[in-house]
Amino acid sequence: MQVSSTSENLAVLVESLNFAQKIDRSLGLIREAYEEYGDGLVVANSLGKDSVAVWHLAKRVDPNIRGFIVTTRYKPAETVAFMNEEVARYPELRVFRSDEPLPDRLYETDPDRCCDVLKVQPVRQAIEVMNVECWVTGLRCTEGRTRVDYREIEERDKGLVKLNPILLWHEREIWQYLALYQVPVNPLYAEGYRSLGCAPCTHITSDQNERAGRWVGTSKCGGECGIHTRPLKVGATV
Ligand code: SF4
Repeated sequence: MQVSSTSENLAVLVESLNFAQKIDRSLGLIREAYEEYGDGLVVANSLGKDSVAVWHLAKRVDPNIRGFIVTTRYKPAETVAFMNEEVARYPELRVFRSDEPLPDRLYETDPDRCCDVLKVQPVRQAIEVMNVECWVTGLRCTEGRTRVDYREIEERDKGLVKLNPILLWHEREIWQYLALYQVPVNPLYAEGYRSLGCAPCTHITSDQNERAGRWVGTSKCGGECGIHTRPLKVGATV
């Protein structure tokens, strides 16, 4: 599978492709990667709206495709309940978490360190334990300021391909897809949340930036937990 060149203008495609074309493109990307990597292709499922859309797309390509969930001690009760429902529906979803002791309320004083221990390290573990060669994400380039420079196929870690099959989708198109296919979603969306994470670091926002409600009041506001920005292969330089 070819790592994306910069020849296609993704910003133009975001606006020019229609909803059905985006679905076809996403399915094609997953299908092509699955043909190449087989069981080495694994979907990262954060239990957010984008992840459940990608998970549904992957299951349309092949019901045997595996996935992993990273959970933390700070996930809202609703997310934990939804996770348990998803794992019951799809036993091929494996759950990873870190129980490493941390200072109390570290998310207030050093959210980068907190995310590194509770999110990035379990993703590294999942990638190693599940022998992942290609991980599939729900990244979208219209989510906010930190997500504009991704490609649909990347290799930021040597030997680990990252596939972002819904990179071109708008937030509205995610909801369109989930409604049309009646995909179950985390009940917190009904309360007005648009981007979900751990309870202390997730707020409701009406900002244009969909992720503006994440890490409010910290240096990380509207930012990233690190799984899309830090090396993930065990043994890589951190
Ligand atoms: S989102 Fe907040 S609570 Fe969760 S791991 Fe990151 S800093 Fe810690």
